[in-house]
Amino acid sequence: VTAYWCPFAWLPDGVAADVRVEVEADRVVSVSPRTPAQASDVRLRGLVLPALADAHSHAFHRALRGRTQAVTGSFWSWRTAMYHVAERLDPDSLLALATAAFAESALAGFSVVGEFHYVHHAAGGRPYDAPNVMGEALREAARRAGVRLTLLDSCYLTGGIGQPLSGVQQRFGDGSVEQWAARVSTLQPDVQTRIGIAVHSVRAVPAEQLSAVAAAFPDVPLHTHLSEQPAENEQCVAAYGCTPAQLLADTKVLSPRTTVVHATHVSSDDIALLAESRTAACLCPTTERDLADGIGPGLRLRNASVPLSLGSDQRAIVDGFEEMRGLEMHERLASGIRGRFSGSALMDAATVNGHAALGWPEAGSIAPGRLADLVAVRLDTPRTAGADVDQVLYAATAADVDTVIIGGDVVVKEGQHRLGNVGRLLDDAIAAVIA
Ligand SMILES: [Zn+2]
Repeated sequence: VTAYWCPFAWLPDGVAADVRVEVEADRVVSVSPRTPAQASDVRLRGLVLPALADAHSHAFHRALRGRTQAVTGSFWSWRTAMYHVAERLDPDSLLALATAAFAESALAGFSVVGEFHYVHHAAGGRPYDAPNVMGEALREAARRAGVRLTLLDSCYLTGGIGQPLSGVQQRFGDGSVEQWAARVSTLQPDVQTRIGIAVHSVRAVPAEQLSAVAAAFPDVPLHTHLSEQPAENEQCVAAYGCTPAQLLADTKVLSPRTTVVHATHVSSDDIALLAESRTAACLCPTTERDLADGIGPGLRLRNASVPLSLGSDQRAIVDGFEEMRGLEMHERLASGIRGRFSGSALMDAATVNGHAALGWPEAGSIAPGRLADLVAVRLDTPRTAGADVDQVLYAATAADVDTVIIGGDVVVKEGQHRLGNVGRLLDDAIAAVIA
């Protein structure tokens, strides 16, 4: 048993002082507030949080950070730049890039990443000899970076509603739901990896195939992009006479194990469908503002009791505090009112709700029996100094993360990842995939 002593800790019923947390193997076995440290305790710094969940990630998009900002455009022109990177990926370059990207996630305090995976095949859609070599590269990358992974393998059959796959999109497709399911069925979970599935979007899976995707693996997390852009809604209404959310409801894609990602442009009726089906939603505020998607309906979803989680998505920023603040601050800008979400609601979105969306219900809080995934945030940095301890999430950044413990292993210590210089790893990996 290892005992960690925390000056402050974010516990399920609030921030407590002088908290002793005993860990055995990968689990928390006891949590004792107002308890003095013992000589053998490992003393953590600052405020210790349950480690964060990044509920929506595309690791390879990290290569685009700071490289798409010089021109005017939209989501769709950004997507063209993203396709140029997707074209150049191979199993080795994806392994290097994802290892570095997941190490950046660990440095920021994330213990689990939900990787929405769609670059499955080689150029032209030719299957690799090992059909899941790209997914296995993501698994190995997470193992090296020390984070848990939920590999959300995405079914991607069409290049748009009624459109064939073209160009690099051919790498994403399996040809049919049956062939996608056959490939995914050979992916096995392990201690650090869980397998989930995804419908890429209503743009990428025809209406008549959606229910087959949902039925293929009925017990695993199911994610889908939903209504990130108005054009998706317009195309869906034109083709099928209903909104994407209605289509997903009619085809049983919406369910308690389902998470819709973005939901930026959903109607009140769409939100009612999400609520009735007990579907969850993942908002990605730093991506949605970067791609000029719009401000998502975080408060309207919350008021309808739709569980909210948070994702870094395209990794323009990897900072769980900034995602939490984005959820709140975008509502402030839209409404002129402060304090739309409580601090605990923001933390729930970044922790328990995200872990649940990714199939890790035993993680996300500091409590006996839970996974020992802890993040110590310094309270004495230029950013955090002076903040009330229960409001520090409005001030902290990823740079204030001091120690990250995942499954009882120390992955980040004094702000350094065990792999060493993560900036260098990123630089080298990105150089290999940009033209
Ligand atoms: Zn995405």
